[in-house]
Amino acid sequence: MTFRRPLIAANWKMNGNRELVQATATMLQSIDCPHEILICPPVIFLADFPKSTKYCLGAQNTSSEKAGPFTGEISADMIRAVGAEYVILGHSERRSLYGETDATVLQKAQQAIAAGVTPIICFGETLSERQQEKTMWVLAQHLDAVYAAHPDLLARSVIAYEPVWAIGTGLTATPEQAQQVHAFIRQHLARIDQQAAAQVRILYGGSVNAENWQTLFSQPDIDGALVGGASLKPAEFAAICQMA
Ligand code: PGA
Repeated sequence: MTFRRPLIAANWKMNGNRELVQATATMLQSIDCPHEILICPPVIFLADFPKSTKYCLGAQNTSSEKAGPFTGEISADMIRAVGAEYVILGHSERRSLYGETDATVLQKAQQAIAAGVTPIICFGETLSERQQEKTMWVLAQHLDAVYAAHPDLLARSVIAYEPVWAIGTGLTATPEQAQQVHAFIRQHLARIDQQAAAQVRILYGGSVNAENWQTLFSQPDIDGALVGGASLKPAEFAAICQMA
């Protein structure tokens, strides 16, 4: 069996402040955890995190352009320069509120990789798509748009399965529902590159908390979590990180 080092990632979204940076850094400094821990605060706070071997840092977005007259944008080279090793791309909030498509995600992922930043590419179905039993079909379309188009990306990225109906709602996929989708994603990608599909980490996201994480994490194809709301509470996030 392929070993995939679990990754527990915090997505602060547009939340937090310097106090939360300090509280989170201090909390994570005090725990022992075999998994990789990642914090993605708003980029403005990246440089405020003390350097640590206990966690790494990431951004929640990056530009699809390398540099130039793009007011308000922040490039992959810039996030790398302030410490980001990862960047979350294609989050459902970016897709639904800012019109991001798989094509944009692909451009951003290429900029990230060129800058030495690993993309965490998010995919998920809406509630109506699930109710119409279109979940696997929807995911296959997105996966093909990104990975069939650029198979080399597979070995260089992390995937996050985030059912849109579970994000910030308190509803989570059951461990069985999540495992079914994670296994489907891996099998689907195996047709593109079997070895890379066996090795790619597939995170689950959507209302993960200290109460539900253990059973989700016990599923064979769930390789970690993308945690929103619960990552804003340092003690709860630390508890999630410590689950085996
Ligand atoms: P949530 O957010 O844990 O608050 O549902 C997860 C995410 O959007 O990445």
